[in-house]
Amino acid sequence: MILDKFRLDGKVAIVTGSNTGLGQGFCVALAEAGAKVLGVGRRDSEDTLAKIGKEKFDYMIADLSDPHCAKDIIGAALERYGSVDILVNNAGIIKRNDSLVFSEKDWDEVMNVNLKSLFFLSQAAANAMVAQGRGGKIINVASLLSFQGGIRVPSYTSSKSAVKGLTMTLANEWAKYNIQVNAIAPGYMVTNNTEALRNDPDRSKAILERIPAGRWGTPEDIMGAGVFLASAASDYVTGFTIAVDGGWLGR
Ligand code: NAP
Repeated sequence: MILDKFRLDGKVAIVTGSNTGLGQGFCVALAEAGAKVLGVGRRDSEDTLAKIGKEKFDYMIADLSDPHCAKDIIGAALERYGSVDILVNNAGIIKRNDSLVFSEKDWDEVMNVNLKSLFFLSQAAANAMVAQGRGGKIINVASLLSFQGGIRVPSYTSSKSAVKGLTMTLANEWAKYNIQVNAIAPGYMVTNNTEALRNDPDRSKAILERIPAGRWGTPEDIMGAGVFLASAASDYVTGFTIAVDGGWLGR
């Protein structure tokens, strides 16, 4: 039955940035589909734990500004749940400033979390998946700025454009191990990431008017794509970045 292919029973997922926003949405969705989920964040994920319950969810503290935490994260998932089948690289930060004065600090901080840690965590997860010998799923969170330039966000656009490219190269290399690597490019979603935009009446109005769906997205909106890309339903889909954007990119 086709709906059975979307089930994640017996699978173990790691989701970074699990305390809030889209990351919390991914945790809830994967757990509802049957997976056991290890959340990762630089602060506690008690709110997510309360939504899911301790049978399907646990979390650990790790700061992804340091890519060296990758091995500890995979080790924790193996120790707590015995395998790693799904990795969602969701954690990300954004820094806004004019490119004429954008600082090296803001460049490095964004690149380290959004790109460098994403790569080394994917590498550590893929090594575990190869050792397990039954494939796996890696889902990277990209952005509309994987496709477009944006304004005053040079490190963010650079990191998210790189995530789209990296998704393709990892998909090419790891297809032979039955590991599918895809990305989700969320549109404008109501989370902490977009608080500054939503508080700016001019930018907020201009964005809303351009979204064909006529509304901002929510963490619930990414759940379907998340479960699809984490499940056997997407076994012949790899290297692709799926927009969940209310039609923004098609306009
Ligand atoms: P968010 O609410 O700001 O969530 C970002 C998550 O990443 C939080 O859990 C955050 O933890 C975590 N994080 C940041 N730096 C970290 C670090 N050094 N170590 C560990 N965790 C860290 O925003 P969101 O919208 O849900 O963002 C999720 C992903 O979607 C990001 O990759 C973002 O770029 C992407 N995205 C969002 C939108 C949108 O419209 N919202 C659009 C396109 C792409 P803290 O709570 O501790 O900061």
